[in-house]
Amino acid sequence: MKKKLLSLLLAVVCVVSMAACGSGNDSGSAGDSQSQAESSGTDDADAEDASGEDSGEGGKLVMATNAEFPPYEYHEGDEIVGIDAEIAAAIAEELGMTLEIEDMAFDSIITAVSGGKADMGLAGMTVDPDRQKNVNFSDTYAKAAQVIIVKEDSEIAGPDELAGKKIGVQLGTTGDIYAEDIEDAEVERYNKGMEAVQALQQDKIDAVVIDGEPAKVFVAENEGLKVLDEPLTEEEYAIAIAKDNDELLEKVNTALASLKDSGKLDEIVAKYISADE
Ligand code: GLN
Repeated sequence: MKKKLLSLLLAVVCVVSMAACGSGNDSGSAGDSQSQAESSGTDDADAEDASGEDSGEGGKLVMATNAEFPPYEYHEGDEIVGIDAEIAAAIAEELGMTLEIEDMAFDSIITAVSGGKADMGLAGMTVDPDRQKNVNFSDTYAKAAQVIIVKEDSEIAGPDELAGKKIGVQLGTTGDIYAEDIEDAEVERYNKGMEAVQALQQDKIDAVVIDGEPAKVFVAENEGLKVLDEPLTEEEYAIAIAKDNDELLEKVNTALASLKDSGKLDEIVAKYISADE
């Protein structure tokens, strides 16, 4: 409850001053503005309504994300790449628009979309009833799960054994929401999933609750960790769009359907996730 109030307050602060949203955050990516297509500064122009006049063919389509979530979105050199970045690019192409990607803290994405700073949020974002109070979701495009990462020699063998433990999550994610409901658990919130994984490696926490695909990547990149077989939840990812932008919602759903039919969506996923995993 306290957290809800806090995020509401945060949302109000964000609406009042967009620029302040990421700046108090120690995440390196928070508030960063990056563009795949044309460069746009972090000045006032950025805070303008992204879903204005230019939202039709020939205009720009602004995607809000948090590029700390491989294989869905992550940095590769100066670029933001990953499944979501490619899906967004394919949607932009279908709509005859130019994609621009804004990188920000995960818990700023809904506010950016509902406030019109971005047209859509793609961030491995789970459809969730609380989020649906503030944004609409497109049709879903991926199945996901919250999983548990522990050290290889951990005594924790499944979700039931998380009670009373110190659990690391990424702030504002569904992992955060579920961990909060675990009996007597102490929840440590990090700006990036990777920071939670590093804390686990340093024995500062007992487990990390995070989405399955980034979990695989983080475990492969960090020694001595494993993902438990039994997931904590089943979830689905979709694209967040402002409540008052039904036109874009319809266009995005049409584009998604065509990407599913043509096999392009599967092709994008297969590029980043091998089927035998
Ligand atoms: N799927 C999770 C959520 O929607 C985490 C997403 C993320 O960390 N990018 O909350």
